[in-house]
Amino acid sequence: MRALAFERFDDESRKRARALLAHRLTALGFQPELQAFGRGINVVGRRPGTGDAPADASADAPADAAGDVLIGAHFDTVEGSPGADDNATGLAVALEMARLFAAPETRRGLRIAFFDGEEAGLAGSATYARSASRLAGLRVAVVLEMLGRTCGAPGCQHLPPDAPIALPPGQRGDFLAVLGNDTDPGLLPLFVRAAVEGQPPVLALPVLDAGRGLPDTRRSDHAPFWDEGVPAVLLTDTAELRAPEAYHGPADVADTLDWRFLTGNAQTLSTALAALLQGP
Ligand SMILES: [Zn+2]
Repeated sequence: MRALAFERFDDESRKRARALLAHRLTALGFQPELQAFGRGINVVGRRPGTGDAPADASADAPADAAGDVLIGAHFDTVEGSPGADDNATGLAVALEMARLFAAPETRRGLRIAFFDGEEAGLAGSATYARSASRLAGLRVAVVLEMLGRTCGAPGCQHLPPDAPIALPPGQRGDFLAVLGNDTDPGLLPLFVRAAVEGQPPVLALPVLDAGRGLPDTRRSDHAPFWDEGVPAVLLTDTAELRAPEAYHGPADVADTLDWRFLTGNAQTLSTALAALLQGP
């Protein structure tokens, strides 16, 4: 995690980040490939599932492929920030999922996607989600965007000004927010159930119409998947709505992360992912 907390803005530093991520994925058996687009390069890897269609399936064989679950996180930063929370935390948790679920023993396959160009208008995830060949077989996308900050003062947690829900007065920023599209009603309860006693609580936020009426809910790499009709959720600590002092600046360093919160969120995700990988 600390190894990834360096400014990843220009071509050279993003290349360094990509090499590190590809190296880790390779060590875990994922055979990463690069997906280049106008101003960036995604790193994506997959391990198969037991429900994969046989490689020699003929056109009239039954279409029984179980499909894949994707864990995605962007690796680029804005200029001038080491991006420890944004989004080295997402990268570290994605790598941890790759490690935990490296064995091809689940019904569904697992894809790990490290997106470039998120800070430049979700460019990498949009490139991925608009590719029909990439989307083939994808059943669920889980996007990780900043998983490591809490705030402890009463009332320190904010929501977007036009959000349709209100937080209790004096709410602290100690929960994991999970945003899902209301067209995929089964996804959010899975994450709520996964957060067992002792782990950070999950605040499930169902969003109408892929968040088009509330642009703040479309600010990360899950939005291009929503737009393509792929069931997708965003896991986040809510960024500057909780920790404005660290957001998109030099203060986004690893030393001020809440490590217990971060590892608790990884545990919650691993429980939910185990269920998702078994499929319906
Ligand atoms: Zn981000």
